[in-house]
Amino acid sequence: MVIIMLGAPGTGKGTVSAILKEKLNIAHVSSGDIFRKYSSEDSELGREINSYLKEGNLVPDELTIKMIKERLAEKDVENGVILDGFPRTEAQAIALDKMLEEEGKKVDLVIDLSSPKEEILDRIVTRRICPKCKAVYNTKLNKPKKEGICDICGSELYQREDDTVERVENRIEVYQSQTKPLEEYYEKADKLFKIEITEKTGTMAKEAADIVIEKLINRKENIKWLQSSQKEKLNKWKKLVN
Ligand code: AMP
Repeated sequence: MVIIMLGAPGTGKGTVSAILKEKLNIAHVSSGDIFRKYSSEDSELGREINSYLKEGNLVPDELTIKMIKERLAEKDVENGVILDGFPRTEAQAIALDKMLEEEGKKVDLVIDLSSPKEEILDRIVTRRICPKCKAVYNTKLNKPKKEGICDICGSELYQREDDTVERVENRIEVYQSQTKPLEEYYEKADKLFKIEITEKTGTMAKEAADIVIEKLINRKENIKWLQSSQKEKLNKWKKLVN
């Protein structure tokens, strides 16, 4: 099972992925997390990656594809993976299809998240991250129990260097010009599934994750995978979505 999370920054890709990871018991691979780890290192590669990240520009395809390929070769992705933030260009999407084909796999579903721009901006500037367990909080909508401290592991939360209004504007532009064309790529392949995350309808990350699970349950081709890997959870989910 390979699920891709598409969507502009701040639409909730990471939060929805984290919920799905728990519910589906599959790996969550965030290209942004991989790059943030490298960019914090004092090495030539770390500095190069940081130069893209801090401006909100994309890391070049060749390097990105190489890193994801290495990550996808790890054991924990065998049962399935949620790719959060990859692919972000058509070259990456083509490379992913090729990588998966070599393994006899394919992209199963592409979740295309969207949100109104004012909600994106508000969500991003109030976002706080745990450096250790990567849990995501929000100083308005999803506060930690103790201010500035991760509920799960007790680490001090931080604000991403690229989570400022100025950088987000650039990241949205980069998304529009380089990543949005992927909607058509996956639409043609009949894999695209759009969900709007917005306070207006109350569809937030948790509701979006339930909608994805419902979609998987309703797609006959996924049932076999769900039954074999998630047997005991399937009935519970059915109740959840009915
Ligand atoms: P994210 O955490 O997904 O918002 O990603 C943070 C930053 O990592 C992006 O602004 C890019 O600089 C870089 N990045 C993440 N994923 C990719 C990708 N698939 N291709 C190129 N750059 C990426």
